[in-house]
Amino acid sequence: MSAAEQGHFSPVDGRWVSHVRRVRDGRYTSDGHPIYVIPPADKLMSRVVQVDTGCWEWTGPVNNKGYGTCRILGERYAHRASWTLANGPIPDGLVVCHKCDNPRCVNPEHMWLGTLVDNNRDMFAKGRGGGQFQPGHRNPRRRSA
Ligand SMILES: [Zn+2]
Repeated sequence: MSAAEQGHFSPVDGRWVSHVRRVRDGRYTSDGHPIYVIPPADKLMSRVVQVDTGCWEWTGPVNNKGYGTCRILGERYAHRASWTLANGPIPDGLVVCHKCDNPRCVNPEHMWLGTLVDNNRDMFAKGRGGGQFQPGHRNPRRRSA
């Protein structure tokens, strides 16, 4: 599947939207009609509401830790699927962490890639559960060896 067929996020009026509604997947039914599919970006965005904090809150199912769950691009988590749509595949061994501490948030701008160790340190530093996100404590797209 090409990037265009997957759909992708584009900024429109300061909001990120997926621009593809429905695409032909290149196959045809037995009576010759093209088969249309919903691109993954649209599947994702159809279950998202954008809230004042800038978070994209997942309105679909969540797991017991509050993370949105889905089946998009082979990902079981909505935030991982969103990262993948915006940035490409998640490198092995890295996890997608939230800057906003909102596990239901799937805004790729609110996420960073880290190792599990980074994530644990981050949760500890923020005192997750009662702490506040500290501006400046940000670790965008760092890749560990
Ligand atoms: Zn967020």
